[in-house]
Amino acid sequence: MRWSSNEVDLAVLGFPIGHSISPPMHNAALRKMAESNPRFKNWRYHRFEVHPDQLGEVLPLLHQKRFKGVNLTIPHKIIAVHLISKIDPAAAETGAVNTLLWTPDGYHGFNTDGYGLEKAIEIDLGARIEGADVALLGAGGAARAAAVLCVRRRCRRLFLGNRAPAKLEPLRKDLTALGGDTTIEIFDPATPDIKWPENILLINATSAGLAISDAPPVDIRRFPQSTRVYDMIYNPPDPVLARRAREAGMRAANGLSMLIYQGVRALEIWSETEVPADEMTRAAKQALA
Ligand code: NAP
Repeated sequence: MRWSSNEVDLAVLGFPIGHSISPPMHNAALRKMAESNPRFKNWRYHRFEVHPDQLGEVLPLLHQKRFKGVNLTIPHKIIAVHLISKIDPAAAETGAVNTLLWTPDGYHGFNTDGYGLEKAIEIDLGARIEGADVALLGAGGAARAAAVLCVRRRCRRLFLGNRAPAKLEPLRKDLTALGGDTTIEIFDPATPDIKWPENILLINATSAGLAISDAPPVDIRRFPQSTRVYDMIYNPPDPVLARRAREAGMRAANGLSMLIYQGVRALEIWSETEVPADEMTRAAKQALA
């Protein structure tokens, strides 16, 4: 409430937030952008730890203090949907927002995770979602964003697997309501008795791998060697599923580029200008190291 600033403020809110590398990533990009455009000289990106019970109070306060942009991370992405004045139609389909833009009437919400994932898969794995077969692990917020992207980009077949199977039918129902011609199937990651197609894209959107001691969310040896694996976890940098996939001779990547490109897109929304992704990448790697 005491916040006072002559700068153009941006911030990420989460609980906890200490681990976030978004501030160094965005501030590095802003410094670079300021070299060619003085408009960005006084733009600053902050981070605030906000308990989910406080989000309803904090967002109007940030709006009043004229924070131009807000990023939301765990556990705020879904709750925030009900606390903003307008939502981008693509974000509404996902049921989650991670980027808010200040407007005179309130915050306008977007979801840039799908953009980040699509870019990451293209850059790290040379893969496209359109027409592909995709196996998706998880049924939380990140998995939902990935699943909506897959249906919207018209992947051929989408296989959904989650530790708690009860979450999969509601997800399939929501995806089917989007229309499109993607075939959606459900599988059990503990016993995936499916003959997986060649060149399938396997996406890990579970938290399995966040702890070094975690078991992988699926036995990678059941998949053909042509499988390409995108593991959304980036810290630790060599998460267990991506590691096992590489050991089995598959192409695999961790989630760093998804994090970077969701950030690039967020900063594009706020700044309405091109954002230096390479500078964000350098700063993110440095912060993680
Ligand atoms: P979430 O909503 O809490 O969902 C967690 C998911 O992980 C659930 O499907 C849960 O299954 C599953 N899970 C948790 N522990 C597991 C285990 N030991 N074995 C198998 N499944 C397990 O979280 P979220 O926001 O979707 O995030 C999921 C992951 O994506 C996190 O690791 C997060 O860091 C990552 N992520 C990365 C980016 C990026 O930019 N790279 C962006 C967003 C998220 P149950 O339903 O059975 O509990």
